[in-house]
Amino acid sequence: MSLNPPAPALRLRLDHAALEHNWRVLNAMSGEARAGAAVKANAYGLGIDAALPVLRDAGARDFFVAHWGEVPGLLPHVPADQISVLHGPLNAADCAYARAVGVKPVINSVHQARLWQETGGGRCDLMIDTGMNRLGIAHEDAAASEIAALDTDVLLSHLASADEESALNHRQLVRFAQACAAIPARRRSLANSAGITLGPDYAFDVTRPGLSLYGGVPCPALEGQIRQVATIEVAIIQCRDISPGETVGYNATFTADRPIRAGVVSIGYADGFLRSWGGKGALRSHGAALPILGRISMDMVIVDLAAMPSLREGDWIEVPYDLPEAAQVAGLTQYELLTILGQRFQRL
Ligand SMILES: *Cc1c(COP(=O)(O)O)cnc(C)c1O
Repeated sequence: MSLNPPAPALRLRLDHAALEHNWRVLNAMSGEARAGAAVKANAYGLGIDAALPVLRDAGARDFFVAHWGEVPGLLPHVPADQISVLHGPLNAADCAYARAVGVKPVINSVHQARLWQETGGGRCDLMIDTGMNRLGIAHEDAAASEIAALDTDVLLSHLASADEESALNHRQLVRFAQACAAIPARRRSLANSAGITLGPDYAFDVTRPGLSLYGGVPCPALEGQIRQVATIEVAIIQCRDISPGETVGYNATFTADRPIRAGVVSIGYADGFLRSWGGKGALRSHGAALPILGRISMDMVIVDLAAMPSLREGDWIEVPYDLPEAAQVAGLTQYELLTILGQRFQRL
């Protein structure tokens, strides 16, 4: 007999209504274009099984992952031909997999274009580099015969600085428009979350928001529009009284200067709650701040319960995960805060 273990003492709640709201806002801001969804890295750490049906039911029809290994997680929820694999095919086995399953490889180089055609061809997407110098065919390769031979569904490019005012945005737009004129494709796509705010010229046919679907606010134009999607709750696994002069945690970086009622809480850096929160962050209970004492451990953090002395072992408290604010406190990007969330959460 196999017995299921009890639920863990840390949980990640996904607000379905907020996720749906965010997709709708970004879709509306995309104007004539339809918003798709970047769902790579397990929907930015939040859980593909929970997030994908919400995005699909809201109206998304184009889903972007980075790796081939991410495809099986999407197939129970959306048709294979709506899935694009951004890293593209590295070899014949990748091409065979894409063809057998029916997902689209994103072709990123003339070499990949040749590989895709030689192994049988078929519908694909095509990335052109317009100035980021990451993935995509070079501008000069737009006229190559291997590129013209492709059956391209979506022609894509990616903005390097959409979240700031930069001359690069317009330069990339101009280059992308040139590529659109030169390369036959059914649809075109340039904008990520922040790119959607740059105006209708940047929207084309499909937009590819990721971060802002999940509550991220990468630029001022999205402030007040995007709702928080993920909330984190953790249980107190032990309460203890600490006398003045005693120290707390690894390397004794905190010394009590008064009697302290402390709570030991079940979240640590192995769960993505990094040491950068130590010494400045606070957990919360009903609005009251519970400052973090000393270093974050792998599986635990210790907090000062003075603001909520009634808390007991087994009680749940919150990790503040409003992304723009949390990014300030932890010194991490909003992207990092989402994608580092570990495997031990009960995802609700
Ligand atoms: C990750 C990614 C996106 C989504 O970007 P956000 O900034 O999270 O909105 C869009 N397009 C490509 C190619 C990506 O790699």
